[in-house]
Amino acid sequence: MSFMLRCPNCGDRHVAEFSFRGEYLQRPQQEDEFASWADYVYMKENVQGKHFEWWYHGSGCQRWFLAERDTTDNTTQTTFWFDDRPRLINRESEPDA
Ligand SMILES: [Zn+2]
Repeated sequence: MSFMLRCPNCGDRHVAEFSFRGEYLQRPQQEDEFASWADYVYMKENVQGKHFEWWYHGSGCQRWFLAERDTTDNTTQTTFWFDDRPRLINRESEPDA
């Protein structure tokens, strides 16, 4: 797997500088049922196509960020900081998300 990834802080870098840290999933509320937390921790969607995921720039600025990546061809659509997700991840702005 070889492609370029854009760190929001450092710019375009080879993916070898980063660590993939898993799918980004909406975190349950503290008062939610145990089953919701179990799903959040253990059940991954493993999407074929575009989805959001965590990356860590270990060989650079050592910061965490989110990326929208197409898993079929490793093209990155956008990368952004965690705090910017409400305006960039549409499903979080939906009432039932
Ligand atoms: Zn960086």
